[in-house]
Amino acid sequence: MSKDDRQKPEEQIREYKRRIADLEKQISETQKMADVPSAVTSAPELEHTLGRLVKKIAMILQAEKCVFMLHDPESGELVARKPALGLIDDQIKLLRVRATQGISGETFREGKPFIVNDAASDDRTVKENVVILGIKNLLTVPLVMEKRDEQERVVEKKTIGVLHVFNKRFGASFSEEDVRLLSILARQAAAVIANAQLYIEITEEKQRLEATLKSILSGIVVVGVNGRISILNDAAQALLGMDQVRSIGKPYQEVIYHDNIRTLIETALSERREITEEIEIVTPLARVLQTQTAMVLNDDKEAIGVVAIFNDITEIRNVDRMKTAFVSTVSHELRTPLTSIKGFISTLISDKDGFFDGTARMEFYQIIDQECDRLTRLISDLLNVSRIESGRALEINWKQIDARDIIAKVISAQKSYTDKHQFEIHVPDDFPRIMADQDKFDQILTNLLSNAVKYSPRGGTISVKGEAVDGFVQFHIIDQGIGIPADKLTKVFERFERIDNRDTREAGGTGIGLYLVKHLVEAHGGSIWVDSEIGQGSNFTFKMPVEPPQDLLDRQG
Ligand code: ADP
Repeated sequence: MSKDDRQKPEEQIREYKRRIADLEKQISETQKMADVPSAVTSAPELEHTLGRLVKKIAMILQAEKCVFMLHDPESGELVARKPALGLIDDQIKLLRVRATQGISGETFREGKPFIVNDAASDDRTVKENVVILGIKNLLTVPLVMEKRDEQERVVEKKTIGVLHVFNKRFGASFSEEDVRLLSILARQAAAVIANAQLYIEITEEKQRLEATLKSILSGIVVVGVNGRISILNDAAQALLGMDQVRSIGKPYQEVIYHDNIRTLIETALSERREITEEIEIVTPLARVLQTQTAMVLNDDKEAIGVVAIFNDITEIRNVDRMKTAFVSTVSHELRTPLTSIKGFISTLISDKDGFFDGTARMEFYQIIDQECDRLTRLISDLLNVSRIESGRALEINWKQIDARDIIAKVISAQKSYTDKHQFEIHVPDDFPRIMADQDKFDQILTNLLSNAVKYSPRGGTISVKGEAVDGFVQFHIIDQGIGIPADKLTKVFERFERIDNRDTREAGGTGIGLYLVKHLVEAHGGSIWVDSEIGQGSNFTFKMPVEPPQDLLDRQG
């Protein structure tokens, strides 16, 4: 018969109450002694807290060494974790066992504490570790993490590792009292580790998410159901012209000043539906945004906000518009010479009676010849554009060429198209021969000169200047024509780009000439730019090396 059986029930209850009070006191004293903070929120803070904890544990338990081993579900191992007491870093690194192995494994699996009084002879210990770590005796308890509900009831229990103390001081052995103490401390430690790990994981995940959001090119705005902005990435800030610092946490109606975007968010929030639409905003330039909204739901599938994604498709829309215009201008440009060729040939065929004399016929043949050249040039330009568009390099047929010679030929060809313009050539006699593609050089000059003619509808002088400086040759094609507005000086080199006014509409064109010229000059290792004044004229300058760099010669030889 045990002592309890002999006691009266009320005595028994009193005895239990006393024991419980003792235990509670012990727990609170142990916690106080261990000085464990309730929440650790960063990796260094966790390191620091665990460092203090192992020291306190060793002191309370009168042990020489103390170390945590955490379970790694991926490798299935229990791995010692810094900081430990009485172990050097190399020993900590070596200390890892499979969760099926030794005392550590058994404690972890069974969830029960173990005392080993003679580690060297006990057959459950891993002898290698006993020797390396100099273990004489030990006490090991599981690290159990408990999740509690509001009423402090345990709702989930999870073993996350084990806690060891080695070598009781003064030649003593670990006792049942030590087991109780260490179990209380282990519970505290497990809570700190689990909370901190969760917190660190969440923080890292948040940081990863923030970095991703930052680097995404689409603008992202998240508005809570309370109407306040919770996320606004860099791209959204730039696209919508918003200030990130001042906008987060503010009602979206106050900080988004584009009416149509406010309406979009309002509709998405109130109607709780996904919306996809194109929106035009002015910031201060007109931009077209492809927008999409989606509801943000919590784990219980309740709407907690709306996310709006913005993509700037202004350029795509512009190119679409330009392409449409391009197709109609190309058709027009192809039809014009064809109409003229067809007209003259029909006239010649039907002139059975020889109404037109030899001179007139020769003139017709020349026009037909020129119009055929125009068609060939246009088709070759189109083929080259498609070559550039598909990312293929323009093939350059490198040769030593005489630029003066080609300039003279191109000018004489241009002369035949106009009687309103005078041409001047200023190229010094000692102008160097250059390494270039003869046909491409011809194409560059022809394009620039035909533009000079086309965009000087009232005539005037067109001069071509050539100069050689420091291993480069530089050419200027100067006209006295309509000029180019300052904001279009770089734009004119983009594909399909045409300045829209009465003069240019009359001149006709496809908007690919300068785009090609720029690529052709660059394929020669050169560059091109234009200076111009409206109503005064334009000066197109291109510069190329006399000897192109070896990599260009190798690439396109
Ligand atoms: P296009 O077929 O329209 O001539 P280009 O690419 O050759 O195409 O030229 C692009 C635009 O640049 C032209 O539509 C015209 O508005 C402008 N431009 C080109 N050359 C001149 C020039 N010499 N003077 C004035 N404007 C020019």
